[in-house]
Amino acid sequence: MKHVQHVAGEVGPTGGLRPAVSRPHTAFIGLGSNLADPVAQVSRAQEALDGLAQTRVVRCSSLYRSAPVGYLAQPDFINAVAQLETGLSPRALLDALLALELEQGRTREFCNAPRTLDLDILLYDDLIHHEHGLTIPHPQMHLRAFVLQPLLEIAPDSDIPGVGNAAAAAAQCRDQQLQRLV
Ligand code: AMP
Repeated sequence: MKHVQHVAGEVGPTGGLRPAVSRPHTAFIGLGSNLADPVAQVSRAQEALDGLAQTRVVRCSSLYRSAPVGYLAQPDFINAVAQLETGLSPRALLDALLALELEQGRTREFCNAPRTLDLDILLYDDLIHHEHGLTIPHPQMHLRAFVLQPLLEIAPDSDIPGVGNAAAAAAQCRDQQLQRLV
């Protein structure tokens, strides 16, 4: 199969010329934070995603406020979803996301603990992929309004491979409290 190579440059967010992404894939990333100024954490992460190698942010959802799940005695979360165009493989993208989490002070004390930044690969093209430490689509995404609503805001026709229509999944999560921030 012939791949289209993008050779032209484009103007990045800082105004400099940066190379376009060759052989791009489409990935959707879930962002979440509930520590150390969560709105600023998520905004900073959106910029950091755009700065990853072979990657640009195509669009970002609004920010949403959600109640914690699992471990309830912690602050509300700020969530968003970003659509990326990337030349990174799923594993390379995950490694880059884990590095960004660390840069923003992420620690892992226990499951569902409060966090400065959580970055998840939700979707990567129409891939279904299982390997040690990486499952795509993200295995809980179809159960979480704080993922589905921002995803549908920027990609209303999204399908979750192996699950089905994202809008139908969101309808099943209607009872989950979620506030869109203006
Ligand atoms: P957490 O930060 O608590 O959401 O868990 C992160 C861990 O989940 C990472 O170390 C990954 O190895 C694993 N993981 C499995 N699938 C995914 C995915 N689709 N996106 C992000 N992390 C994933």
